Amino acid sequence: MTKEKTVKWAELPKIGLAEALYLPAILDGVAVTLKHMLGGKAITRQYPEVEPDIPANYRGVHRLNRDDKGRVKCVACFLCETACPAKCITIKAAGTDKDDPNWNDRDKYPASFEIDELRCIYCGMCEEACPVDAIELTTIYDLTGLTREEMIFDKDKLLSVYDETVAKGDDPIRTKRGVLGPASEPAARSDSATQGDSATQGDSATQGGGATQGGAATKSVGGVQ
Ligand code: SF4
Ligand code: SF4
Repeated sequence: MTKEKTVKWAELPKIGLAEALYLPAILDGVAVTLKHMLGGKAITRQYPEVEPDIPANYRGVHRLNRDDKGRVKCVACFLCETACPAKCITIKAAGTDKDDPNWNDRDKYPASFEIDELRCIYCGMCEEACPVDAIELTTIYDLTGLTREEMIFDKDKLLSVYDETVAKGDDPIRTKRGVLGPASEPAARSDSATQGDSATQGDSATQGGGATQGGAATKSVGGVQ
């Protein structure tokens, strides 16, 4: 059999008068509606009294992860901003001080990092694009706010979501899956004396304390409630 004969060509189906008038599709839709009306069991969600059972891979509010030194893990490569279809990520990069032992393993860091949570479509492409596992979507779904400005999450707020989810043991499933690749591993360093304390360069690595900035990562994530 020649290679050409193994190729299956898709043909447009022949459409009769009924299909042209959408009758089969309409009848299928009515059948589904009747099935739910007559046979289905009504389910009323008791939210907010009863929290919904969120799937483990739910894509909710973002968090910016910290590295082993407590610094923002992001290296300001702009891949997430480039990949974002909604264009809701805005990053300003800054060069690190090579004389600072806490930052001499990095060329850049995000001087500012903002995500417009109202514009975001929670597709997850930013976390897929990130080469160092610095941005993740959590299962936090109940973000609220009274103004558009409140819903633009800056670096401190995104870090506070990290602190809060870590404190609760509520890491996203992506973190639980492990590191994506070598770029996600902490850089091997000889200056171990600098470990564990740090991050004065632009990113306030106030472990735990960041969770109070501008509202937290649960129901008050947008700064109200
Ligand atoms: S989840 Fe999608 S839309 Fe939202 S910031 Fe990430 S890439 Fe952009
Ligand atoms: S892709 Fe990751 S490392 Fe690059 S700018 Fe976005 S969050 Fe930072």
